[in-house]
Amino acid sequence: MSGQYRRRVGSARPSHLMFTSGVGALVDLPNFSVLVRGLDDWRHDGIPDWEPIVEPRLLAAVRAVLGAPGVEQLRPAPWLEGTSPPEVEKAARIGVPTTPFPAWLRCSACNELAPIDSGVFGFENDKLNRPQDARFFHGSCPRKKSGRRPLAVAARFVLACTAAHLDDFPYAEFVHHDAPCDSGEHPRLRMEDRGGNVGANVEVTCIGCPARRNMREAMGKRGEQNLPHCRGRDAHLGTFAPDGCAQQPKVLVVGASNQWFAQTLSALAVPRTSAGELATKVEKHWAALSTLPSKEMLPWGRANSPALRELDRTTTSCGSPSRPTARRAPRTSTRTRPTPICVPRSGRSSRRRRCPTPATTSPCGETRTGCRPRWPGVSPTSSRSNASAKSGP
Ligand SMILES: [Zn+2]
Ligand SMILES: [Zn+2]
Ligand SMILES: [Zn+2]
Repeated sequence: MSGQYRRRVGSARPSHLMFTSGVGALVDLPNFSVLVRGLDDWRHDGIPDWEPIVEPRLLAAVRAVLGAPGVEQLRPAPWLEGTSPPEVEKAARIGVPTTPFPAWLRCSACNELAPIDSGVFGFENDKLNRPQDARFFHGSCPRKKSGRRPLAVAARFVLACTAAHLDDFPYAEFVHHDAPCDSGEHPRLRMEDRGGNVGANVEVTCIGCPARRNMREAMGKRGEQNLPHCRGRDAHLGTFAPDGCAQQPKVLVVGASNQWFAQTLSALAVPRTSAGELATKVEKHWAALSTLPSKEMLPWGRANSPALRELDRTTTSCGSPSRPTARRAPRTSTRTRPTPICVPRSGRSSRRRRCPTPATTSPCGETRTGCRPRWPGVSPTSSRSNASAKSGP
């Protein structure tokens, strides 16, 4: 949640955050929906042992797509394990920040429609181990005065434009045809579903005056005439476009599949080969290996020296670890970069195998060869299919 309130209200799998509901997307929770906030609000300072994701090629690809070197690190989603006291309280404050969206709620008992900040609806989330029970409720509902207070659910209409802006639907202005209400500056509204099977048949009425209007008038061709211009709102950042927006917004229903499109980049990360493992062990035990007078003594050393027995657990094609190879191997700055050396067979230790295929250049400028292991490459796997993917909606 945004602001000072930080406590879990639900959960999502990492793949869900990457492909279905990333930054700027709406996530449907059991009792309301939330908008994933921008990366500026993601906090890792409460996680003691978090580490950035070290993938230089992926980072370069991200910088190339965004067109600026402003991205310094790749980070995992903030998360802290803890299901029992006292860790559970600390863990409940760490997660992907979200904000309730749409900010208009409807009482499920009396259909009253009001924004969250109007004070009409209350919020409860008092069970640390049951974030899925977090909910808004109508405390002074005229339809239900005893028992559990009725649930307030998200009003299901939002506005979006093709410049990637997402905004609440202007219910009060819409129902009053952009004129002031006789009952005051903040009129009380009601949203009622009239049913039927031909599109949406939802009517918004004003409790303080006779104004009423069907949501059908905000959709399709009529919507272009009846809706105001886009306000340029980036709801996931809490900002408005400084120069406004000239696009005409359209009504979307919360949960529509065309609200948000993922833009994904991927990098091929090749793990260390056994040659790299062997080189590490040779370096580790070099003090013992260097005392052997000749290569022929190595089987004896393995049989009699406990330190050298560890070399038996490394499967190699040469059977003879080569100290110079380990020393000359260029150290890489990443943990995923493979060691670019072919392990020579015994008797040809000083010759490297020639690569039979010509070198090619990967999109990130690194040289690839046909020799295994390959250099990891980076390639955009999908592109944004809609301009709105930039900031989510
Ligand atoms: Zn109510
Ligand atoms: Zn009114
Ligand atoms: Zn816009």
